[in-house]
Amino acid sequence: MLSVSDILMYNYCQRKLFLQKVLGIIEKAPKEITFSGTIKHQVSSSILGLRGVIDQLEISGESVIPVELKTGKAPKQGVYEQHQLQLAAYILLLQEQYPTATYGYVYYLASNEKKKVLINPFLKQEVMQLLNSSKKLLSKQVLPSYCENKQKCLNCEIKKYCYHESYVAEKMQNIMNHSKALNNT
Ligand code: SF4
Repeated sequence: MLSVSDILMYNYCQRKLFLQKVLGIIEKAPKEITFSGTIKHQVSSSILGLRGVIDQLEISGESVIPVELKTGKAPKQGVYEQHQLQLAAYILLLQEQYPTATYGYVYYLASNEKKKVLINPFLKQEVMQLLNSSKKLLSKQVLPSYCENKQKCLNCEIKKYCYHESYVAEKMQNIMNHSKALNNT
């Protein structure tokens, strides 16, 4: 089962998702920021094959509203693309249990702004496409190329491995040898 973080990573850089999930190249994760007074909520769907962890859930009448906390400032308009997709994925997961769930919020703590994200058919389709493409990517042994926007690489925590061609080639070879051995048993 994939996580919402996985499909967001696919959207950010397909190669990164592959390096981490298939080749197991993972840099020590930075300490997760926790917000005092919040209880995280795990949601999952065996139908979608997707799971996620929501920072806060607000109850309004019959519906539940996911709230994602972000430490940075809000953009001038709306929310950042990754945050919009994250909320949309949470809403889809919640809808299985709470069909009336249709919106959520991204709360940007640095600017103290709470921005609404409303699910719509296009956003739903985008999440489903990301999910299906992520599954497809992880089921094949094909190394994706580097992401086009090199700005993304600047702060990527696995950059030193990603650009180390012989290291990645060796990891790929190991994976292929392993699946060849499995096929021969
Ligand atoms: S260094 Fe760049 S291409 Fe490599 S995984 Fe990171 S973001 Fe993707």
